[in-house]
Amino acid sequence: MYAPYPYPEEALESVVARLQRHLYLSPRETKRKFGSNCLGGYAYIDTLSDLLKQAFPVEQLIADHTMVPLLRNLNDTTYPRYAYRYCPDCLKVQLETHGETYWRREWLFCGVCHCPIHHKPLMLASFRDKRAMFDHCRDFVVPEDVEARLSRPVVSSRCLEKMSQCLLELIAKPAPRTEATPVQWRNFWIQLLNDNGYISTNLDALKQRLLGYWEFGGKLSTELSSDDLTAGMARYDWVQELFAKSSSIGIHWRWDQTLQLWKVLCPDISIEELHAHALAMPCNP
Ligand SMILES: [Zn+2]
Repeated sequence: MYAPYPYPEEALESVVARLQRHLYLSPRETKRKFGSNCLGGYAYIDTLSDLLKQAFPVEQLIADHTMVPLLRNLNDTTYPRYAYRYCPDCLKVQLETHGETYWRREWLFCGVCHCPIHHKPLMLASFRDKRAMFDHCRDFVVPEDVEARLSRPVVSSRCLEKMSQCLLELIAKPAPRTEATPVQWRNFWIQLLNDNGYISTNLDALKQRLLGYWEFGGKLSTELSSDDLTAGMARYDWVQELFAKSSSIGIHWRWDQTLQLWKVLCPDISIEELHAHALAMPCNP
C-alpha cells in the first residue's frame, strides 16, 4: 500500500491524514486500517511504520515526527494534551513549497501556542462539518479541512509565549543528514534516467533493457523471442510497480531496486560515488 513520505517536522497523524486524502479513503476505511487517531496516542504507528520501513526506520519516525523527544526531556509523560492548531502563514509557505499542507508536530502539542517563525499566536482549528472542536482528535484530518472563518487564535500572552519557546527548545535538533533523503534519491534517478534517454513516455524501453540484462545475460531485447519477452516481463512484478510509480507520483524505489538499476545504468560508478551524487541533489521535489 502507498504511503506519503513525511515532510520535515510533520506530525505522524498528518502523514496518515494525507494518505487518506491521496487515496480517497473514507474515514471508516482509514479507521479500519489504522484505528482511531487519538491525537498524540500513536496507536497507528505499527501500521504506518510498516508502510514506510523501506525509507524510514521507526526510530527516525519517532525522533523526527513525534513529540517523544520533548517528552523524554520533560521527564513527564502525563503532561500533554493535544489539539489541532496551526499557523496560517506557515500553511501558506507549505502550500507554495509542497502543493499541499500538513500539521507540524509541535502545533498539536498543548503549551506550544506561538509560531516561532512568524511570531504570532497559533490558531485553534475548527472544522467544516462544525462538530465539537475536540471530536476531530479521533479523526485523521488535514489542514485543508479547517474552516478558517470559525478558527480563533489560542489564548496567548508574553508568559505563554515564553513557555512555548522553552518547550520548542526541548525538541532535540536533528543531526545534520549525511544520508541522501528519499527526495534526493528521486531527483537523482529522474536525472539519471533523463541522461540515459528514458522519459515518462518510453519507460517500456528501459523495462526491456533491464529484462535483457538480468534474465538473458545482457542480450538486447531485439535479440529475444517474443515468448522470452512475455515470460520475463511477467516475472518482474517490481519492475512494473516501479514504472507505475515513476510515471505518476515520482520515484520511490527500494534500496535493493536502486542497486539493481545502478548495475545496469552506471556500472562504472561505485555505490559510494552514486550516493555522493544523490546527496548533491536538491531536497525539494
Ligand atoms: Zn508560522
